[in-house]
Amino acid sequence: MSSPTKDYYEILGVSKNATQDELKSAYRKLALQYHPDRNKSPGAEGKFKEMSEAYAVLTDQEKRRQYDTAGREGVYQKYGQQEDIFRGADFSDVFRDMDPGSGGAADLFGQLFGRTREGPRRGVDLTYHLQLRLEDVVSKSTREIEVARTEVCEVCKGSGAAPGTSRRTCNQCNGSGQVQVVRSIGSGRFVRVEPCPRCGGRGYLIDSPCRECGGSGTVRKAKRIRVVIPAGIDDGHTLRLRGEGEAGEKGAPPGDLYVVINIPPHSVFKRKDSDIYVDTRINAIQAILGAKVRVPTLYGDVDMSIPSGTQPGSLFRIRGKGLPRLNSFWKGDEFAAVSVEIPRNPNGRQKELLKKYLEEGSS
Ligand SMILES: [Zn+2]
Ligand SMILES: [Zn+2]
Repeated sequence: MSSPTKDYYEILGVSKNATQDELKSAYRKLALQYHPDRNKSPGAEGKFKEMSEAYAVLTDQEKRRQYDTAGREGVYQKYGQQEDIFRGADFSDVFRDMDPGSGGAADLFGQLFGRTREGPRRGVDLTYHLQLRLEDVVSKSTREIEVARTEVCEVCKGSGAAPGTSRRTCNQCNGSGQVQVVRSIGSGRFVRVEPCPRCGGRGYLIDSPCRECGGSGTVRKAKRIRVVIPAGIDDGHTLRLRGEGEAGEKGAPPGDLYVVINIPPHSVFKRKDSDIYVDTRINAIQAILGAKVRVPTLYGDVDMSIPSGTQPGSLFRIRGKGLPRLNSFWKGDEFAAVSVEIPRNPNGRQKELLKKYLEEGSS
């Protein structure tokens, strides 16, 4: 693809908050200049590809947000293939009445990026939201999740034709899946490429469809998938399972499955990266004299010594009782935050003792 150094906004020469209209007119101006049909100078085609990519991403709200937060790498990561980046982008407005002799925008991009319009499409990516408890991520574990997805039909092996029969090439489009429609307007002849109406753009016909899948070549199935969950994974993290998404068309590779981790807030433990915070209550006398208290951790309760003269809000570190750090042998720590309560109903004798304490002079 194009050089990853230049900013999409810079490429189009617009500001970061450019509107759709501004993007369109900026792109159109540049496209007129660098369109491969008009500009044969070396480098023009590369420039044209680059600005087209910038235009496709920035005019799509989702993709633009992804670009603004995660940059070009982020866009490639999420939308992967070129085809996905350009999917949904509308160039027709820009190229309308610009090059009536050619097959239109889609055709142009097909040539530029070396793909044909009806080429097999990689399967769609799937997203699964997996809810975990904090306790679940103290060590590595596996989960079985059930995902409804389309898979290649086992009966016809994806051909869509009943066993013993086969597809035949469509005789209207000769297997290309597209036909040219010629229109004359005034003295101009417009040639448009459209999906073949006889085969619906598939390029082949099926005389006796497979009964299992109805001729589509794919079936919808609830599939159980094992997911390995790394220790210490955090809320909002995403695991990518390659090839576990929807089946691709016509033998194209399947999409990926993204498992998004959701860990709701815990009633006792608060998480901060790999460290855990917990509230510990002691009474004022314990704070003065020091005490031994039981503190909950994700690995069971532990005894903790509180020294004499502990102040409210003191933080005590319990080493190694936090969560494992991702891809590391190290664990975080737990911090016990001490809150001090004043005894509400001391009896007479206790009050006498406290009076004596006061008479000693407080320090
Ligand atoms: Zn089938
Ligand atoms: Zn056809």
